[in-house]
Amino acid sequence: MAHIIDGKKIAGSIKELLKQEVQSLKSQGLSPGLATLLVGNNPASQIYVKNKHRACQEVGIASFDYHLPEMASLEQVLAAVEELNRNEKVHAILVQLPLPSQVDSHRVLESILPQKDADGFHPYNLGRLLSAKDKKELTQKDSVIPLPCTPHGIMALLESTDQSISGKQAVVIGRSVIVGKPVAALLLAANATVTVAHSQTKNLEECCAQADILVAAIGKSKFVTASMVKPGAVVIDVGINRDGEGKIWGDVDFESVKEKAGWITPVPGGVGPMTIVMLLKNTVELARGYRRK
Ligand code: NDP
Repeated sequence: MAHIIDGKKIAGSIKELLKQEVQSLKSQGLSPGLATLLVGNNPASQIYVKNKHRACQEVGIASFDYHLPEMASLEQVLAAVEELNRNEKVHAILVQLPLPSQVDSHRVLESILPQKDADGFHPYNLGRLLSAKDKKELTQKDSVIPLPCTPHGIMALLESTDQSISGKQAVVIGRSVIVGKPVAALLLAANATVTVAHSQTKNLEECCAQADILVAAIGKSKFVTASMVKPGAVVIDVGINRDGEGKIWGDVDFESVKEKAGWITPVPGGVGPMTIVMLLKNTVELARGYRRK
C-alpha cells in the first residue's frame, strides 16, 4: 500500500512560511500584491479566481480583482494588462485562462511584464526555465524565474518524499504548456531521465510501467491503471475531472494504483492545493525581486 502524499498539509506548511515572510516584508515597507484578470463569466474560472483571492488574504498578500465582460476585445484586455504593468502596488499579474475565443491568449500572456508574470507562462520565463542548466540556476535568489505553479508544486511534492529524483526514470503523460512541458523541464533540471508521452505515443502502458516517477496530466478520469505502474513508483496525479454529479476524479485510478505504487497523491488534496500556494510563492518572490531592481 502506497504512502499518501498529503498536498494539503505540505501546502499548509509552505503557506505558514509565506505568511511570516509577507509580515517581514511589510515591516520593511513592501506589501506584495497580486492582480487577477478575469475575462467573462466562466463559472469554473470564477471559482478559481475567488480561491486565489482567499489564499492571498490568508497570507496577507494584497489582491486586486480585475474583471472584464465576456465580449471584451483583445485591445481592452491588453489595455488592462498595461495598466497593471504600470501599477506599482501590483508585483504579480495572473490572467485567468481560458480567455474567450476573440482574445488571443498568446498576445495577452506576452504583454505581461516578465518580472510580473505570476504564472510563469511568459515565453521569456519559459525560455529561462528551459535554458537553466540545473536546479541551482533556476532558484538563484537574485534573479527570480517565476516557475509555472502546478509543475513547481509537483516538484515540491516529489521532494517531500524520501525518494531522490536524480538518475530516476520519469514519465510525464501530457505535453501542455501549463503542466506537461514545464514539469518535464523541471524534472530534467533535477537530473531525472524524462519521457514525455501524449496521445500519439505508442506502447504507452509499457512506457509508463518503466517509470520510477509517473506524472499524469491528461484530463481523463482514472486513465492510469495499475498495469501502467511500476511497483514502488511515485505517482503524481494532476487531473481534475468532474463527473455528472460534480464529484472530482483524478487521472489515476487511485484505488487500484495505491496498492502497487510506493507513493501517490490523492485527488482532491494532492497537486491542487500546491498550485495555489506556488502562486503565492511566486508573488512574494516577484515582489522581492521587483524591489531590488
Ligand atoms: P491538456 O488538455 O492541455 O493536455 C492534455 C494532454 O494529455 C495532451 O498533451 C494530450 O496529448 C494528452 N493526452 C490526451 N489523451 C491521451 C491519451 N489517450 N494518451 C496519452 N496522452 C493523452 O490538459 P492540461 O495539461 O491543461 O491538464 C491536464 C489535467 O490536469 C486536466 O485534468 C486539468 O484539469 C488538470 N489540471 C490540474 C491542475 C491542478 O492544479 N491540479 C492545474 C492544471 C491542470 P496531445 O498533446 O497529443 O493532445
